[in-house]
Amino acid sequence: MNRQLAVLLVLLLQIGCQGFDLRKPSSDIELVVLGIAQDGGVPHLGCQKQCCIEARKSGLRIGPACLALVDNNSGATVLIEATPAIEEQLSLLRDLTGYGNERRRPVDAVLLTHAHIGHYTGLIHFGREVASTDAVDVYCTERMSDFLRENGPWSQLVQLEQIVIQELSPGQVTEVIPGVRVQAISVKHRDEFSDTVAWRIEGPKKTALFCPDIDRWDDGILERLIEGVDLCFLDATFYDGRELPGRDLSEIPHPPMVVTMERLENLALEQPGRFRFIHLNHTNPALRDETIRRDLEKRGFRVAQLAEKFQL
Ligand SMILES: [Zn+2]
Ligand SMILES: [Zn+2]
Repeated sequence: MNRQLAVLLVLLLQIGCQGFDLRKPSSDIELVVLGIAQDGGVPHLGCQKQCCIEARKSGLRIGPACLALVDNNSGATVLIEATPAIEEQLSLLRDLTGYGNERRRPVDAVLLTHAHIGHYTGLIHFGREVASTDAVDVYCTERMSDFLRENGPWSQLVQLEQIVIQELSPGQVTEVIPGVRVQAISVKHRDEFSDTVAWRIEGPKKTALFCPDIDRWDDGILERLIEGVDLCFLDATFYDGRELPGRDLSEIPHPPMVVTMERLENLALEQPGRFRFIHLNHTNPALRDETIRRDLEKRGFRVAQLAEKFQL
């Protein structure tokens, strides 16, 4: 081997070991899936169909859609949605990564999409009666923030500084932990108490999207949401409408998975695993039907899996 080549090799090895610049943000950011169901989870209160009868019998529990970010260098944790299953989900995060679920600091920050029960009511555990958290940053839009500030019991979390609201306008980009930039993107949804957003999460290496609730993929919103995103978690509340017999598919305020798959058919085949379904209703057959699962995987799609980890 000639000398120049040897020097180049040594240099490359050093770069590989140390990185170009130690001051650069960490690239050791992991995204972890902590829940994949619709707001009510599985089993679902009041459901006396096979889906939930069997789940109760076997002890199966699937928590509402929830992701977490972990910085493996600093141990910082960010929860995306505070669901009613927050304790279970943060314990799982700790089992999987060694971080999170610490006293008074179960998590360093929370991102919220909207004020429906599966998405924010886990905050109730941050109050005096349970964790009495110490100034956990909660990122949300102005309307969501007004809702929390103006209504109990959430208003008490703000008054006691158990949470510190970080208001973001849709489109605004902010760094939640070093090296991770997030952006809220407005989406149309049944907005009684707050507006609704999807989160775009940009890590040092990869970008993810979390869009658990949206009425439909109209006005080019799907294309805008997924543009430049490596890992897209998309609303999969219903499979094809069979879950709601007698209801007109076009009137259901969620894009059925079959419609999403049709729209993303070619991209999914080119990039298998880029599109992952999340927020599945307890009745959604894609939760348990092996034939449906095999078919969608053949087409390049995936159903998000509990405890899956991705490098961002
Ligand atoms: Zn929901
Ligand atoms: Zn059920």
